[in-house]
Amino acid sequence: MPNKNTETSNWNFEDSEKLYGVSRWSKGYFSIGANGDLLATPDHHQPSLTINIQEIVEEMNETGIQFPAVIRFHDILRSQVESLNLTFRNVINDADYQGQYFGVFPIKVNQMREVVEEVVSAGKQFNYGLEAGSKPELMAALAYNTNKESLTILNGYKDEEYFKLALLGQQIGRKIIIVIEKFNELKTLVRIAKEMGVMPIVGLRSKLMVKGRGKWKNSSGERAKFGLSYVEMLNAVDYLTEQGFADSVKLLHFHIGSQLTDIRSVKDAIQEASMVYMNLAKYGVPLSYIDVGGGLAVDYDGSQSTHNSSCNYSTEEYIVDIVYGIKQTCDLYDIPHPNIVSESGRAITAHHSCVIAKVIGEIKPNSTKFDTSIEQDEHILISNLRDITQELNCENYQEMYNDLVSVKAQTVSAFSLGVLSLKDMAKMESLYWQTLEKINQHLIGEEFIPEQLMEIPALLSSQYLVNFSVFQSTIDSWAIKQVLPIVPINRLSEKPTKIASLVDITCDSDGKIDQFIESNGSTNTLPLHQLNTGEDYHVGIFLTGAYQDVMGDMHNLFGRLNEVHIYSYDDDPKDYYIEEVVHGSNMGDVLSTMQYSSEILANNIKKEIDVKVSQGLIKPRMGVQLTDFYEGCLSNYTYLADDKH
Ligand SMILES: *Cc1c(COP(=O)(O)O)cnc(C)c1O
Repeated sequence: MPNKNTETSNWNFEDSEKLYGVSRWSKGYFSIGANGDLLATPDHHQPSLTINIQEIVEEMNETGIQFPAVIRFHDILRSQVESLNLTFRNVINDADYQGQYFGVFPIKVNQMREVVEEVVSAGKQFNYGLEAGSKPELMAALAYNTNKESLTILNGYKDEEYFKLALLGQQIGRKIIIVIEKFNELKTLVRIAKEMGVMPIVGLRSKLMVKGRGKWKNSSGERAKFGLSYVEMLNAVDYLTEQGFADSVKLLHFHIGSQLTDIRSVKDAIQEASMVYMNLAKYGVPLSYIDVGGGLAVDYDGSQSTHNSSCNYSTEEYIVDIVYGIKQTCDLYDIPHPNIVSESGRAITAHHSCVIAKVIGEIKPNSTKFDTSIEQDEHILISNLRDITQELNCENYQEMYNDLVSVKAQTVSAFSLGVLSLKDMAKMESLYWQTLEKINQHLIGEEFIPEQLMEIPALLSSQYLVNFSVFQSTIDSWAIKQVLPIVPINRLSEKPTKIASLVDITCDSDGKIDQFIESNGSTNTLPLHQLNTGEDYHVGIFLTGAYQDVMGDMHNLFGRLNEVHIYSYDDDPKDYYIEEVVHGSNMGDVLSTMQYSSEILANNIKKEIDVKVSQGLIKPRMGVQLTDFYEGCLSNYTYLADDKH
């Protein structure tokens, strides 16, 4: 075996970079410093300004902000908004394209007010607007998208109230485009518009026949939940013309799904949609916008592939395909180039936030050893197991593995029948894990590993217990097997000597993460560092700014996380300042969402304590302490607190 010490000292931050692939998924926003700390470079305008994430964590510890916590880098959000808009602008110029770009941010991706405000502020110079897909989102969009030149695009199913809100927006001077998702919406819209005496601006959502590829491929195609078929689209145009609204149809919309992993689906959709646009234009519909929806993917695992958590194209390539694709069709059929709208959400927000959580323990299946030495009258099954362990060598380990599995099964039956004792079973367990360890040693460095043995490294790996909830913070890792990059935030110049998967603190066996970026040849485990006593070990879960931030739920009543909002600031010695701390839910908050009143809870406990005090079973002083303690807990954080030894 190679000497462990020299191996460790040969490791440096560049090895960690290779292992965790930071530069492959971070778009330059994160990197590993030479001292082994994880760094952020949030502002594209200031590439030399780097923030040490470990320093943020230390500052949070000093100011008593508990973990798990979200760190939100506002400059990343701004940089992403700028880069999308500038790229569209540049490609449009280069292509000599006659229309303009009017992007909108779909707020369902992250409805946090601070996020929406930042996006609107960064997008002001580009007339970048908002997209809403429900009434509450529309309420927010109306109040926050105050730039009169930018668009507000309204998708989703709509009722009277939704239309009224939309037309209210139009009356206060906003450019509201109401996208029709289903034919019957038109009738309501026409009625309300007549009542209010307002001429709406209408968009028509096409189902398109082409399908996206990836998880959300059913957002398009003939069985899609949204949009109009070709028949309905023509009927819609005729209906609006009959009703005197012929001039109102300005936009053609499509959205073939989120996280489009393969650029071919973008090309296909643009081809089909631009033909629809051209046909409608020739039919006399006064269209002037084409809205390509969302779908611009994030390369979560950095593999640049068509895996569900990746994509095989860059933002620039995506934009080039859109602009040139539309231009080609319009030029061929001699119609004016439309303005282009896009609704990218994931790609705008994913990078700007991360979750920092503390590893609070290690769970090993075989950590405690039991005395397995030979005893008189030992049962033959136990002796058999010991023989397997001893006879195992580099030639027979597969055969021995088969024997092991079968003898183990026999011991379990024998125990049920009362033939083996608990002590025998403890021996069995100990011998079983020893044997697996031995087989695993033989597997290291093998080019070919038989399929049935492939699970052994994962079986032997540790589980790191992390103080967070998958269901609150990384819901898609559970729901759709989304892979998110996970990296320790310091000690990156030290070799990680453990192989682990992560488990959270919920009482749900699904509360775990066991899908990782391909790093050490396995995607089920992640190399991490040995935990040192008395030293905090934090991992960062990255690219959580899209959907994860806002979709999490309160499984086990673990609530929303504390958040710090970070701005880059050159004049500060640490190059940043915490602009805002948003406190996460306390226990009283989460209980109240389930209809519990803090007051009643505390009262019930107090009453019972009072009874015990009056019976002399609890001392009065202790009674008051207990009452205060229970009450105090209601305003405490829902996650585990650090033990104050
Ligand atoms: C969800 C959604 C989006 C956002 O998609 P991303 O893939 O996150 O960019 C855009 N438009 C519509 C209609 C949507 O439903």
